[in-house]
Amino acid sequence: MLKRKESEKLFEKAKTYFPGGVNSPVRAFKSVGGTPLFIDQGSGSRIWDADGNEYIDYCCSWGPLILGHCYPAVVNKVKKAIDKGMSFGAPTRLENELAELILKNNSNIEKIRFVSSGTEAVMSAIRLARGYTKRNKIIKFDGCYHGHNDSLLVKAGSGLATFGLSSSAGIPEAFARETIVLPLNDEKAVKKAFSLYKNDIACIIIEPVPANNGLLLQKRAFLEFLADICAAKGSLLIFDEVISGFRIGFEGAAGYYNIQPDIVTYGKIIGGGMPVGAYGAKNEVMKHISPDGNVYQAGTLSGNPVAMAGGIAQLTECLKPGFYEKLEKKTKRLVNGIMDGVLSDDGFRIFSIGSIFWPAFTHKKEITKSSDIDAKSMEKFKKLHAALLERKIYLGPSGYEVGFVSSTHTDRDIDITIKAFREALKIALQ
Ligand SMILES: *Cc1c(COP(=O)(O)O)cnc(C)c1O
Repeated sequence: MLKRKESEKLFEKAKTYFPGGVNSPVRAFKSVGGTPLFIDQGSGSRIWDADGNEYIDYCCSWGPLILGHCYPAVVNKVKKAIDKGMSFGAPTRLENELAELILKNNSNIEKIRFVSSGTEAVMSAIRLARGYTKRNKIIKFDGCYHGHNDSLLVKAGSGLATFGLSSSAGIPEAFARETIVLPLNDEKAVKKAFSLYKNDIACIIIEPVPANNGLLLQKRAFLEFLADICAAKGSLLIFDEVISGFRIGFEGAAGYYNIQPDIVTYGKIIGGGMPVGAYGAKNEVMKHISPDGNVYQAGTLSGNPVAMAGGIAQLTECLKPGFYEKLEKKTKRLVNGIMDGVLSDDGFRIFSIGSIFWPAFTHKKEITKSSDIDAKSMEKFKKLHAALLERKIYLGPSGYEVGFVSSTHTDRDIDITIKAFREALKIALQ
């Protein structure tokens, strides 16, 4: 049995300091059971917990670490920035450098604004859409997570799905009323909402690769339909690319599907592991942001030099030729290797795009809506998760969360994982 004595001790202490012993709910291991592992250190594809157990990590901090842990170029650049000062509250050269790196290689946006988290990026994008259109209502999709913003914490997947909640307490009715929640992959529902609320829909926000409630891959035609209907009705289309941005390609899902959204939000990978978010759009939309325009948005630590340094170093690696192709190939090998040991009537599949993968206990060939997921299947995920931990493979502690492969996962890591996964599946499928 996995040694967890130290983690258990630390968790007992943490429970006296933090609600549920954690600073973000999914970390609490509630849906998979047992004590959360306290992580001490990471290097490349590996992490070590407080008891000294070594794991191959497929959580990768929930996505940001596309180069794995402590990638030397990232660590060095961040250390250099720290030596010059942690924060100034004034512009720095590093902000220009990260912006240039992104804008030169992304045809979807012309201007960008850095903030400190994905939640903040989305909150600002929604305000921009409302300020620009002078409308109030927003359309979001059941199962898409957009951070813990009041108006978006409705049927939002992620921690809410993990804990079986549809929304959060503390959100006024009046806010929730401005949010129209529709099922994914359903053009009719979108058309109906537009006919009901005619000229009051400021925007549609979607994760173009919904990856917070399982992996609910959408058809390109649906995303294109959203772009078209927004253009026709004077609403803005927001792609929330906090996970998919720089993950399924440097230009994220907008580039992958070749669809032009009006506003794009980023987070996770953009900071190289430091807290960064961003939103961007064409000049025509971004000029409404303060101090050019009258949509106010600010941040004491926005564009923080240490965080910018992390982002510059990481995105520089992502831009190297073949980076995403190699990552996708590696992920395919992992997925195919595991699936080779699975029979078609076992009721297990792995959905995957780029370097994102989602193990699902299902007989369905396609899962495009949160209602396609059987909540009972999470019991099997719980067994899978435990059996994988025993075999030193670390997945995020929820069956609604996806896994991530980094560029530092080696062929050997993949081989070890395939073997462990097949054994763990036998246990989960019993
Ligand atoms: C993670 C995530 C967010 C929230 O980002 P935080 O940095 O956790 O605030 C928003 N949208 C999507 C799609 C995400 O995956």
